[in-house]
Amino acid sequence: MAPDCLFCRIIKKEIPSKFVHEDEHAIAFEDLNPQAPVHLLIVPRKHIAGLNDAGEDDAALLGHLQLVAAQLAQARGIAESGYRTVFNTGRGAGQSVFHLHLHLLGGRGMRWPPG
Ligand code: 5GP
Ligand code: ZN
Repeated sequence: MAPDCLFCRIIKKEIPSKFVHEDEHAIAFEDLNPQAPVHLLIVPRKHIAGLNDAGEDDAALLGHLQLVAAQLAQARGIAESGYRTVFNTGRGAGQSVFHLHLHLLGGRGMRWPPG
């Protein structure tokens, strides 16, 4: 836990958010500023700043985040229409919160390549 980290504070429930999933290793909640009809953030309880800071020890955890995203996509009814899971890594890629998180976006058409 990092005391000044926004997502650590959300995990500790010091900042309210709309939780949609909680387990031993990860939580998921609604993004405050959604970019699609479904926009959830899947966040490990462990404070890892970003993908560059993840190691081999975190491999199972990273896979777990993706599987939670797939479960949530199923639950939200977007598994068949399609969805995107994204780790933004570094400011140049749009990362603004430096506690690793997986975006789950869906419920509308997606363009490729992303902007
Ligand atoms: P990033 O830009 O780091 O990839 O993603 C951070 C995400 O966190 C953004 O989509 C932003 O809307 C979301 N966010 C920032 N602050 C809060 C907050 O206090 N609560 C929630 N639920 N989402 C937040
Ligand atoms: Zn954190």
